[in-house]
Amino acid sequence: MNVALWLASSARLHPQAPALLTGTTVQADYATFARRAAAIGAGLVRDYGIQSGDRVALFASNCTEYLECMYAVWWIGAVVIPINAKLHGREAAWICDNAGARLAFVDDDSRGALVQVEEDLPTGMQMLSIDSETYRELQHGEPTSLVPLPHEDNDLAWLFYTSGTTGRPKGVMLSHGNLVAMSMCYLADVDQVHQHDAILYAAPISHGAGLYNFIHIRMAARHVVPESQGFEPDEVLDLGRALGDVAMFAAPTMVRRLVDAAKKRGETGEGLRTIVYGGGPMYLADIRDAIATMGQRFVQIYGQGESPMTIASLPRAFHADTEHPRYLERLASVGPAQSVMSVRITGADGKSLPTGETGEVEAKGPAVMLGYWNNDKANAETLKDGWLRTGDVGRLDEDGFLTLSDRSKDVIISGGTNIYPREVEEALLTHPAVREVSAIGVPEPDWGEVVVACVVLEPGASADDAALDAHCLANIARFKRPKRYVYLDALPKNNYGKVLKTELREMMRASASAGAG
Ligand code: AMP
Repeated sequence: MNVALWLASSARLHPQAPALLTGTTVQADYATFARRAAAIGAGLVRDYGIQSGDRVALFASNCTEYLECMYAVWWIGAVVIPINAKLHGREAAWICDNAGARLAFVDDDSRGALVQVEEDLPTGMQMLSIDSETYRELQHGEPTSLVPLPHEDNDLAWLFYTSGTTGRPKGVMLSHGNLVAMSMCYLADVDQVHQHDAILYAAPISHGAGLYNFIHIRMAARHVVPESQGFEPDEVLDLGRALGDVAMFAAPTMVRRLVDAAKKRGETGEGLRTIVYGGGPMYLADIRDAIATMGQRFVQIYGQGESPMTIASLPRAFHADTEHPRYLERLASVGPAQSVMSVRITGADGKSLPTGETGEVEAKGPAVMLGYWNNDKANAETLKDGWLRTGDVGRLDEDGFLTLSDRSKDVIISGGTNIYPREVEEALLTHPAVREVSAIGVPEPDWGEVVVACVVLEPGASADDAALDAHCLANIARFKRPKRYVYLDALPKNNYGKVLKTELREMMRASASAGAG
């Protein structure tokens, strides 16, 4: 089926339900939202020659028009390519070219970025600004059909470009069936959704946060874009109070900032019913602090673009089950496989490993992508007999809880032994002076690699190498402790809130060669 049918159905069943909001201001109800999507879709066909199967890029900051454009594209059976608004024009142009985009929805800012790199854009690609009069006219134009084009489950819906921290991004092909499977898992494994709920887009709609639109369309809930168009912890807390029944997706680093703001205001996050976190490691010390400050509002998901938001999940109940003998182990895990997924752990030979052993995490099920766009080599490396090789290292316990160590490329090999940076990070984060930490491997002739901890201290706190070393010695094996500490004001993060270990390694390399020179 076509995901746009969910919008058409909600518009029929709940025409007056508030659909699109900027802050607390309602921009459109469901009838208006669906009519605009159909009218813009009709305009894409009529004025721009877009046909079913064509790729249409969306390069803009979060706004309610973002959702209108996506559904306009699906309405006419075309494919959407949401692009992170923070990307450089050249990077966005590369994606448009790789995908063979025929049109790009832009806003006035991103149009400027693309115009500067016009020579890199695919030949004949048209641009349509959502800030333009033309767009306003399309919104109010004549919808050709009030029913979206039919679709097969395996038809392509969303080309999801990976963040590409190493090498060029890859276009993950997500089908309508993938998106439906993901959405059904939300109800089974993450949270219930009702019409009075609000999904808040405080993280880019081009990524995980945007993938949660579907189930909220299906249930005719409210879609809220903060006025700041991004993540401002105080604004989120205010919106929670004003709107009530809010659900949102947040990277763990965003949760951290939200918890700090809640503490400062002496609040618990009233009105924020569910905070779904994932996309990077949530440290035990941080989630315990979050629960102590804000209560039971948290659900964890583990997924990746290649199986969007849907590999494992740790629902609210496991966050609350403090009496369970393995409560803390479970809280440090990403939970059991989501309903439609199977998870296994494999060794270097690709064979399944027994329970408890550490190896590569593989996932199989209807949320797994169709494959990468025009990339046979990456497909052959990543998909084997329907199993997705995630590139993550982890282990399963006897109850099926999956605990992740790290991305395999982040594992540090020192003196021939594997050291998982996450263990070092978890240990250092229990030191009261440490606010954030990222452990990386830095090349060293005797050991191959040594552990370097990049530490951000709590404001006003002080700690030195000796204090942190003593803390590590008291908590983890000797050989795992960092050989060096680097103190930073902040960790480099991408627009999705993920810590950029590649950038940290680059910084260390640059400072080592500056030192040598
Ligand atoms: P992306 O495709 O950009 O969403 O990145 C997916 C990667 O983020 C995964 O392969 C994991 O390495 C990491 N990740 C996602 N969710 C979690 C989680 N709950 N805990 C730890 N790492 C995660």
